[in-house]
Amino acid sequence: MKPLFILFMVSTLFASNTLAAESVNVYSYRQPFLIEPMFEKFTESTGIEVNTVFAKKGLVERLKSEGKNSPADLLLTSDFSNLRAAVEAQVTQAAQSDVLNQNIPAEFRDPDNQWFGLTNRARLIVVSKDRMTEGAPSSYEDLAKPEYAGKICTRSGKHNYMLTLTASVIAHAGLDKAKGWLSGVKENLARKPQGNDRAQVKAISQGQCDIAVINSYYMGAMLDDEEQTTWADSVNIVFPNQADRGTHMNISGVALTSSAPNKSNAIKLMEYLSSAEAQQHYAEVNHEYPVNKSVEPSELVQSWGEFKYDTKSLAEIATHRNDASKMVDQVAYDN
Ligand code: FE
Repeated sequence: MKPLFILFMVSTLFASNTLAAESVNVYSYRQPFLIEPMFEKFTESTGIEVNTVFAKKGLVERLKSEGKNSPADLLLTSDFSNLRAAVEAQVTQAAQSDVLNQNIPAEFRDPDNQWFGLTNRARLIVVSKDRMTEGAPSSYEDLAKPEYAGKICTRSGKHNYMLTLTASVIAHAGLDKAKGWLSGVKENLARKPQGNDRAQVKAISQGQCDIAVINSYYMGAMLDDEEQTTWADSVNIVFPNQADRGTHMNISGVALTSSAPNKSNAIKLMEYLSSAEAQQHYAEVNHEYPVNKSVEPSELVQSWGEFKYDTKSLAEIATHRNDASKMVDQVAYDN
């Protein structure tokens, strides 16, 4: 019995060592509060450990400088532009997966499989409940109308969320019209662009402006925060451009790195993040729209109702990003 028992011990030890050796390394722009619970569940069900580097910037640059020696398998981003930047820097590779293709609609993933969207966020117009009881803008184009002079607040035109919106206007209307639009919005600003999206809603609640442009999940975030509930309660939501192309959507997403030392584990994690379980987590914890259509948005988000969204591909919109950035300077949007 004794040798057998020892043999059993040794093989168990080996098995657990093998298990610990299975891992996947992630560089994440997305925050720990949102991501870590999902990684824990992934590890529980697969035995694959997830090692994560969280950062607010510099991850694409880091992948570039580490090159082939990078330990990273995946890059997780909170918007499309960093996915695009990673592809342009040639630090990604195609991930082939039927599961990903099934879970994620085509307009929210790269035709060449270099990146995959995991959640959607709508770029909303929000308006003061007290001061915009009628005549609220119903499209991004409306924001440039003279009747809204001195009423609009936004963050910097150079922020990714604003640049992608402007790039989408260029994609639909062309450079000249888009420039006229952006300078019209600039003319209507109540103050110099500053702060983040939530700060614009705060400004409305304090009477500094009547109209702002924000990502949809921030409405949920403010309502979940005692101090900010009054900000969110001071505005009504408008889903822009329902009469034509639909509301502009951005994505958070994931890309497989070109170095990826643990490629098959990395694809398993990507698949998990697109699964119903993980998509539910994104929806409930951060009020984002699941890309996986089998999962419903949170109750709050559902209460806003269904809406039409712009299906022009983000890959195409992104080709206008540099022009958008130049345009922000040309119309002196941030000055
Ligand atoms: Fe955000």
